[in-house]
Amino acid sequence: MNDTQPTTDASPRYILEHTFGYTEFRGDQQAIIETLVNGQDALVLMPTGGGKSLCYQIPALARPGCGVVISPLIALMQDQVEALTAVGVAAAFLNSSLDYQQAQTLEAQLLRGELDLLYLAPERLLQPRTLELLSQAHISLFAIDEAHCVSQWGHDFRADYLQLSCLHERFPSVPRVALTATADQRTQGEIARRLDLENARHFVSSFDRPNIQYRIAAKNNPKRQLLQFLNEEHQGNAGVIYCLSRNKVETTASWLQQQGFNALPYHAGLSAEVRAEHQRRFLREEGVIVVATIAFGMGIDKPDVRFVAHLDLPKSIEAYYQETGRAGRDGEPATALLLYGLEDVVKLSQMANTSEGSEEHKRQERQRLDAMLGLCEITSCRRRALLRYFNEELAQDCGNCDTCLTPPVTWDASDASRKLMSCIYRTGQRFGAAHVIDVLRGADTEKIRQFNHNQVSTYGIGSDLSANEWRAVVRQLVVRGYLQVNAEAFNALQLTEQCRPVLRGEESVQLRTLPKAAKATGKPDSG
Ligand code: ADP
Ligand code: ZN
Repeated sequence: MNDTQPTTDASPRYILEHTFGYTEFRGDQQAIIETLVNGQDALVLMPTGGGKSLCYQIPALARPGCGVVISPLIALMQDQVEALTAVGVAAAFLNSSLDYQQAQTLEAQLLRGELDLLYLAPERLLQPRTLELLSQAHISLFAIDEAHCVSQWGHDFRADYLQLSCLHERFPSVPRVALTATADQRTQGEIARRLDLENARHFVSSFDRPNIQYRIAAKNNPKRQLLQFLNEEHQGNAGVIYCLSRNKVETTASWLQQQGFNALPYHAGLSAEVRAEHQRRFLREEGVIVVATIAFGMGIDKPDVRFVAHLDLPKSIEAYYQETGRAGRDGEPATALLLYGLEDVVKLSQMANTSEGSEEHKRQERQRLDAMLGLCEITSCRRRALLRYFNEELAQDCGNCDTCLTPPVTWDASDASRKLMSCIYRTGQRFGAAHVIDVLRGADTEKIRQFNHNQVSTYGIGSDLSANEWRAVVRQLVVRGYLQVNAEAFNALQLTEQCRPVLRGEESVQLRTLPKAAKATGKPDSG
């Protein structure tokens, strides 16, 4: 650790310029920093890449004492400490990677007032020994990063975060700031309540990331779609590809390697060394593609990620926004591509229904998934819908999403919908999409013969559409609530009340047309 600088009398602007080398504050940074410097609490909602770190780093330097940063990820702490040390800030982390001697040295430095910033994992902070140590030191502020981890409805919930409310009781005069890139109001309220920040000033930034182009397409031939995307638009670019399962991460990464890409897998099943190595290569080398489960990315600060591709549907709009938000942090154009299919809808509904937790929790998961699906199927501006979900209203369509750039073509699918609905009804609402489509298309399968489904009146009445087209119809009708997938009954398709007016011919159904290439494929290929 280097000498402590005489930072106590430095103004935030001076620190911004001389320590960090920036000329201007961004967005709410200045107001947030002033709030903390004045000893008040703050709750900060800022999108990924918005510049949250400076919001606590500068006040920690401007106020006497050491700023304590609580962060859930060790990798993130190390990165930040490295970057801070490089610009001459006395920063350190206290975690299990230090041996006894190192920890002792650090504690002594803290007590002598030689540290500007100390990073800690929540579980470490909450140890009685650590709390005791902190109460003997001079603390300038507490920064609670990734504060949405306190939310039990979020996918990053950490029980330790709940206990962080003790900071207010133990250190009543130390200002606290909670920061997150998760924006929905429910989470915001939960953070304020659970962390005892109801009297804090709230800073809610715009969540728009205008340089990210949003695109969502039906998953027809994902390998071909991905290859085309990479070859035509992202040759040699760094990017992240998200998949739902570890297995798919592995197969996708090795397939990309065969295709000549510098692709590396990343998921929780890999050893810590391999993960650290792949993360390091992603950060340091040019043009590395990381294929990952959601385990990758929280807090990764790589400014020039040019694309994020999802090969499976994210569980919620929050997750989609956070994951796509890792692209284009440098403000340069970047692309977010999502490919999704009926299988995703079925799989995620199943996961939502069988997940642990109360009925209420399941209901909320279901709602979040439905909102995500709604975003996939809308025919209007994606960015407007995305921001509206976070209670932000854009004045006009964005001009930089797929629906703005190539307005989707719709077709009158009323007749097809009726055929599908009757076929589901005639076969007893007991079968999944694949079988129902086989019946509609008049296929000759073992299962059809077994159930005598070649005798039902709807057998073969849908041979005018390809299997892929039928799958698109099913998917869109599920998303719009006409059909439901019963996870407790082998994912059987079932009719909802909403079908009635369509079946009676009182309501028409307009659906998106599939791109030409996808129509032709009779055989579904979902990777
Ligand atoms: P977040 O934690 O909100 O995702 P970071 O704090 O990591 O964002 O900041 C994202 C990037 O923006 C970093 O590379 C950071 O150095 C840069 N940055 C932050 N504030 C400013 C500023 N005022 N001027 C220029 N660059 C900034
Ligand atoms: Zn748009």
